[in-house]
Amino acid sequence: MDVYNLINGELTQAKASQTLKNINPATGELIGSIPNSSNEDLDEAVNAAKKAFPLWANLSLEERSEYLLKISQGILDNLEAFAQAESLDTGKPISLARNLDIPRAAQNFSFFAKALSQYSDKAYAMGQAGFNYTQQDPIGIVGCISPWNLPLYLLTWKIAPALAAGNCVIAKPSELSPLTAMKLSQLCQSIGLPSGVLSMLHGLGSQIGNQLVNHKDIKAISFTGGTTTGQVIASNCAPHFKKLSLEMGGKNPNIIFDDCDLDKAVDESIRVAFANQGQICLCGSRFIIHESIYDSFKDKFISKIKALNIGDPSLEKTNFGAVISKAHLDKILSYIELAKKEGGKIIYGGKPMMQAGRCRNGFFVEPTVIEGLSQQSRVNQEEIFGPVVTLQPFKDEQQALEIAQDVRYGLSATIWSKDISRCHRVARALDVGLVWVNSWLVRDLRVPFGGQKDSGLGREGGFDALSFFTNTKNIFIKVDGINHG
Ligand code: NDP
Repeated sequence: MDVYNLINGELTQAKASQTLKNINPATGELIGSIPNSSNEDLDEAVNAAKKAFPLWANLSLEERSEYLLKISQGILDNLEAFAQAESLDTGKPISLARNLDIPRAAQNFSFFAKALSQYSDKAYAMGQAGFNYTQQDPIGIVGCISPWNLPLYLLTWKIAPALAAGNCVIAKPSELSPLTAMKLSQLCQSIGLPSGVLSMLHGLGSQIGNQLVNHKDIKAISFTGGTTTGQVIASNCAPHFKKLSLEMGGKNPNIIFDDCDLDKAVDESIRVAFANQGQICLCGSRFIIHESIYDSFKDKFISKIKALNIGDPSLEKTNFGAVISKAHLDKILSYIELAKKEGGKIIYGGKPMMQAGRCRNGFFVEPTVIEGLSQQSRVNQEEIFGPVVTLQPFKDEQQALEIAQDVRYGLSATIWSKDISRCHRVARALDVGLVWVNSWLVRDLRVPFGGQKDSGLGREGGFDALSFFTNTKNIFIKVDGINHG
């Protein structure tokens, strides 16, 4: 299954005819080729976007909304094909792609199709002197760069508000997971999205991603990915004063108080730790547990891990699949080795998982639980982005907060307790962008989404996203001299 760029409404190879290999992480087999795009492809996409922009930006809200709703419906109509492609490309369980990734991608378009009509300008009256009103102008051509872990979900989370706000978009999906972006390109062709409104350029982050960020005609960049990449992108955007939104890495704490509903906390913690093999930026990788329930949490948690169905992602029953690549598998395993050197004890997992049959060459690692590491250990400080979690005991609320905060990241946290005052107090004190109390990953697309510290810059979601993808102009009209007759 070969992948092509979408440029000027056409599916094309890279101009230089260079390709990259796309590998199935569950089998290690070749899926097909993808274009290794470069500046020539980008220039063509920019020229097409320049032509398309006046038409797209001047459509009525209803007309733009109609296009987005058609894309949303097209994804739903082809949900199974999208889900199969997402699972094939990433190694994630088919049930996850079917129930989370693809429905959410459709919802991203329908949500912003409707949000658009509620995003109103503001007026500031100045009595007899006159009045001000604001106008939200689309920025022009914007770049959207997304990672491999939730490929279509995160790509459309950027494309949908950018298009809704009247921009033309040049998107660069991760080279590791291009299939659903290609299917989205085909869908946009089939619903008649005007040529040049959306371009999809596949290839390497270090090449086409970098060129996109540096292109003088691209006025804003919305990026989701690792913090190191975010730093490079920020420094490339700074000299051009580009608008920039960064959603980056995390090392999310989960604070389990002794008055929580332990069984519910354990059940949900399995998802928190191991959904998508721990490869969701919001997954919790540090479990900070009150010392009085530490052992009972640990025992229950491990017995639940044993019940996971690990293996071939294409099987209905599987709820834990492959990790994205051999390089990522090696990175995860190197952190497990590091944990041992740092004095940690592997109390569950810790090894690559050999599979039988068609997945025998796939990239699988056991869900892994480690205890006994100091807070200053690299394993407790650095993002692993895989199915590896640490357990740490705490004595009191103050100590729990100190452990939770003692990292460079500040994306999200969970708190487990029946004491609502405590939950409120701890949630307020945590320096993170998102807190879930007695829950995880409950999403309302209206709420601001993003991280603090080295986890992010700016907010996505709802009107925050529409605000990012527009420039606000204030217009003052002097009204003295009106004849009240
Ligand atoms: P990367 O930072 O490696 O890549 C993200 C995207 O940026 C990819 O499309 C990549 O292309 C591209 N890229 C790489 N280098 C550059 C560059 N110099 N200029 C422009 N683009 C570039 O992240 P991963 O794909 O490995 O994703 C995992 C990371 O994403 C984790 O750190 C995770 O926490 C974070 N993440 C954050 C989320 C959030 O909302 N905060 C949500 C999901 C993930 P290519 O793939 O070709 O290298």
